[in-house]
Amino acid sequence: MLKDIEISRMTPRRPIEHIATELGLRPGEFSCYGDHKAKIPLSLLERVYDYLPGKLILVTAITPTSHGEGKTVTSIGLTQALHALEHKVCACLRQPSMGPVFGVKGGAAGGGYAQIVPMEELNLHLTGDIHAITSAHNLAAAALDARLHHEQRLGAAEFSRRSGLDALNIDPEKLFWHRVMDHNDRSLRQIQVGLGNNNGPEHESGFDITAASELMAILALSRDLADMRRRIGQVLLALDTSGQAVTAERLGVAGAMCAILRQALEPTLMQTLNGAPCLIHTGPFANIAHGNSSIIADEMALKLSDYVVTEGGFGSDMGFEKFCNIKAPISGRQPDCTVLVATLRALKSNAGLKGEAVSRPNQQALEQGFANLAWHLANVRRYGTSVVVAINRFPEDTEQELEWLRQACLTEGADACELSEAFALGADGAKALAESVLAAIGKGDGFKPLYDPSLGLEASLATLAELGYGAAGVELSAKAREQLAEIRRLGADKLPVCMAKTPMSISHDPKLKGTPSGFTLPITELRLNAGAGFVTALVGKVMTMPGLGLNPGYLHIDIDEQGEVIGL
Ligand code: ADP
Ligand code: MG
Repeated sequence: MLKDIEISRMTPRRPIEHIATELGLRPGEFSCYGDHKAKIPLSLLERVYDYLPGKLILVTAITPTSHGEGKTVTSIGLTQALHALEHKVCACLRQPSMGPVFGVKGGAAGGGYAQIVPMEELNLHLTGDIHAITSAHNLAAAALDARLHHEQRLGAAEFSRRSGLDALNIDPEKLFWHRVMDHNDRSLRQIQVGLGNNNGPEHESGFDITAASELMAILALSRDLADMRRRIGQVLLALDTSGQAVTAERLGVAGAMCAILRQALEPTLMQTLNGAPCLIHTGPFANIAHGNSSIIADEMALKLSDYVVTEGGFGSDMGFEKFCNIKAPISGRQPDCTVLVATLRALKSNAGLKGEAVSRPNQQALEQGFANLAWHLANVRRYGTSVVVAINRFPEDTEQELEWLRQACLTEGADACELSEAFALGADGAKALAESVLAAIGKGDGFKPLYDPSLGLEASLATLAELGYGAAGVELSAKAREQLAEIRRLGADKLPVCMAKTPMSISHDPKLKGTPSGFTLPITELRLNAGAGFVTALVGKVMTMPGLGLNPGYLHIDIDEQGEVIGL
């Protein structure tokens, strides 16, 4: 089979104006960035305000291997199939991060004959949204350190006299805002800044990956420009010496941050290999961030099409959970059907098999690993949506094992279960899945989130741990308990929780495969993201800046004599 980038390059593309017009956009409602990308201004939402929304199909998965089990491939394949069946459909996907692109997982434009094209543009800079977030985030970090520097250097009174500003009296022990960048760089996880003569004050800091920036979440959860402006103003950067919040508004940097982010709030229109529309917006990492496409992109797509296919990152314990408990209560848009992606290899890995063994036939391991699928099926059902299992077929999969799995899913109560062969066959490989999804739309018992944030942070954490992951309970570290007290003091303990935990297990421990139970969920840290409107809870050994491994993807990427990218 041809490589992804070869398929992407040799498939004829339609001009993006045609895609935009077919989606229902009028002249002036999109601005082209070259031939194959267009930004959609937010004014569109006013024009289509009264339109009836289409149906929302949310794609999630079982507990994956580190390579991913094909949610993006399945989301794109399903979109291509619905488009080929002449339905009005639009996909809403997240922009890939360069961390995984150059790390172990690779790009996130789908693969095989189910791709968003041009894949090298999607996988690299696209229209610069991630760069804009990095830049806006780091402006706030620079502004905070500079203010601290000048106030300390001059003293409050002299600072005020010379700058014309009120002194903030920032507490150097209470700085919360780190820096971000869009690469896997472990050496920046923990750093000391302010070294050298007159560069101080020195303090400990660190970098997170840009996808985990609070600004990424704000972009995804904002309803419009004014909402983004308000949320950015509320971002908590530090405390002052009397324990009051130093927000981006108080520091006077919120407006400039919004100026940088203005265009990044507009989704980017692209196309699938068969010319179906796709809105790309915000970023991945549903383990450490909320990891869903934006409310604005979803809303535009829902108003302009009958079916919208979107993906929540990692398993149903991660991006799907955050879609339901963080995003849906804000957007008011709930999944009309959920697609649960499973692979034979992930089921075998959930039975404890490693390496090449997951790709070989092994009925016993398959049956043992099935418990993980059953758990995710029940988990999705708990939220009251109908659920169709999509078995993403890999070349080495045997008919016998695939058929066993299909029957097992139906016996377990899935609304339907279909093979998805979109990777190898494109739209044709996902038509059966598309028909089953259409039949399952609206067959759920009625959407309900898992917990009620108004009961307080401790109750939310306990419900997420016990009902959301099957834990026996939660344990907060001393640091997390202090932070909880501070969050209460700031009056922010009725916000939903954004769990940051490993996606490689339903629990906090990546080694616990299958369906772990009876464990205590260790909460190591709580971070108030007042602008995004949630509290991030760090669980176990999770890190918010990944690292590069022994054999990273960048080793294979280059440009050829024509200047085209190869190896992506
Ligand atoms: P996810 O979105 O669940 O993380 P992706 O759709 O990005 O997963 O797929 C992960 C990787 O596996 C990608 O490199 C993709 O091209 C590849 N892949 C997905 N499905 C198949 C398949 N059926 N056959 C071969 N490779 C596949
Ligand atoms: Mg994906």
